[in-house]
Amino acid sequence: MLTPRQRVILRQIVSPPYIYRWAGLLTTLALMTGVTFVVLSDVGSREVLATGAAPAVSTGPAGRPVRSAADAPALGMPGMARPAITPSLLTVTDSSVDRPAVALTFDDGPTPQYTPQVLDLLAEYNVKATFCTIGNQSVAHPELMQRIIAEGHRLCDHTMTHDATVGQNPHDLMSRQLGTSRTTIAGSVDPPATIDYFRAPEGAWTPALDQVAAETGMRPLGWSVDTLDWTQPGTAAIVNSVKQGMHPGAIVLFHDGGGPREQTVEAVRQLLPWIQEQGYQTVFPS
Ligand SMILES: [Zn+2]
Repeated sequence: MLTPRQRVILRQIVSPPYIYRWAGLLTTLALMTGVTFVVLSDVGSREVLATGAAPAVSTGPAGRPVRSAADAPALGMPGMARPAITPSLLTVTDSSVDRPAVALTFDDGPTPQYTPQVLDLLAEYNVKATFCTIGNQSVAHPELMQRIIAEGHRLCDHTMTHDATVGQNPHDLMSRQLGTSRTTIAGSVDPPATIDYFRAPEGAWTPALDQVAAETGMRPLGWSVDTLDWTQPGTAAIVNSVKQGMHPGAIVLFHDGGGPREQTVEAVRQLLPWIQEQGYQTVFPS
């Protein structure tokens, strides 16, 4: 027989309210124990990571707008993961000098209005650039082509007529077109220049165009910093796009033709000293 006191105790233990309170207390304790264990485990693993070999971390700049959605390789700078930018991006390197290298490119010329101004500025700062010229304009302005070569710059094939659909053509036609533009641009100077690069107008690359350019002896030349100068956004906007987008290995896209380019010329006037102050050396894409 239970005493009255024992009955009270028994009733308190087995009565529902107490069962729920005990269950709640035990569940809370279990959860707190679990959380404490997880937190301590995490801290431990972080300490291991911090003292061990650091994982590879991308130090690249913010991604630039992708001009073409095709499969784009990264820039390929050693030890640096770069965002995919353009299908045919080349690496800009010059191992002979221990300074970060960048390349400046000027498209859609030559034009009597702007190309000489750009060349004057490049000469003033002893900077070499690559000019992606249009075949018909190269023939129309051989004196400008001659000056580009004479002053140590390089040429790039930008098709005969700035044909942005060339990459859609059948292989044979595409091959003839690039062969003609390359020969024409090369032959616009005396002796004929070497044309190592091809740049698709409007960045309208196709895998077939890449292949034909290579078959024709030219390396597809992409870019990683698009100044959008052809939209005439204002000199300050062009300057800022370069200052914000510049990075070791950058290929910068300007235009010295195709429309009014006073803003481009003024931006280049402001940017050349800045580029040198930043410690960059200007090289040709390689
Ligand atoms: Zn162009």
